[in-house]
Amino acid sequence: MDNNYLLEIKDLNSGYGAIQVLWDINFELKSKEIVCVIGANGAGKSTLLKCIVGMVPPFKGEIKYSNQNITHLPAPERIKMGIGFAPEGRHLFFGLTVEDNLLMGAFQRKYSKNEIQEDLDFIYNLFKPLRGYRKKFAGNLSGGEQQMCAIGRALMSKPTLLIIDELSLGLAPVVVDDLVETIVKLREEQDITILIVEQDVQVALDIADRGYVLESGSIVIEDSSDKLAKNKHIKSAYLGIA
Ligand code: ATP
Repeated sequence: MDNNYLLEIKDLNSGYGAIQVLWDINFELKSKEIVCVIGANGAGKSTLLKCIVGMVPPFKGEIKYSNQNITHLPAPERIKMGIGFAPEGRHLFFGLTVEDNLLMGAFQRKYSKNEIQEDLDFIYNLFKPLRGYRKKFAGNLSGGEQQMCAIGRALMSKPTLLIIDELSLGLAPVVVDDLVETIVKLREEQDITILIVEQDVQVALDIADRGYVLESGSIVIEDSSDKLAKNKHIKSAYLGIA
């Protein structure tokens, strides 16, 4: 395997019990790339992300992160290694405040009070509405603010790789534009590598350098976003262009 890759997946097969969802997945991510995974509902996108973060075990295959084999490493250890995850549906603790939700993201870290305050300030500067709402219950936030909180919580673990499952789902276009701008800033200013699963293929291709297309649990196309946007199959199947 190539040492230049931050994440390398080799021949990954996975699923749930007797149900196989992913078939022979080969996937790489270089440091500071923004990469998207696109595909129809049920194609296996979330399952792939869950394998990377350690929530779903592989049937076979290998996952390497920073050149270390993490195939069977428990999820909390992967967070410590720098893999941050904002899951589909956000999974915030609605009965906790925004700040307590953010602090949950730092549970794996040993930190001083000053450090943690600096990190909270970083999140509040990144997602300005959250500062005013820090004592508000997460369940009372709008969808866009909840997404900010979920991404903020993932960032509190100080990831080198930020994985976001469905960035734009259910959000107004103006909110999505702001989130996209923030994601690009995270790569440019914090050197964070980004992996997103995104149902809005246009948004995915606009933000990503490269993309993988997953169909029925297999990767069928892998290319630069520019080339994917011009690909006949992508245009007709995912962008609605004849
Ligand atoms: P969506 O955008 O609809 O979430 P997806 O591409 O992310 O789609 P997955 O959520 O990975 O797809 O689901 C892939 C397949 O695995 C689907 O057929 C789904 O029903 C099945 N599946 C997902 N989670 C489980 C589970 N916990 N147990 C059994 N089957 C599951």
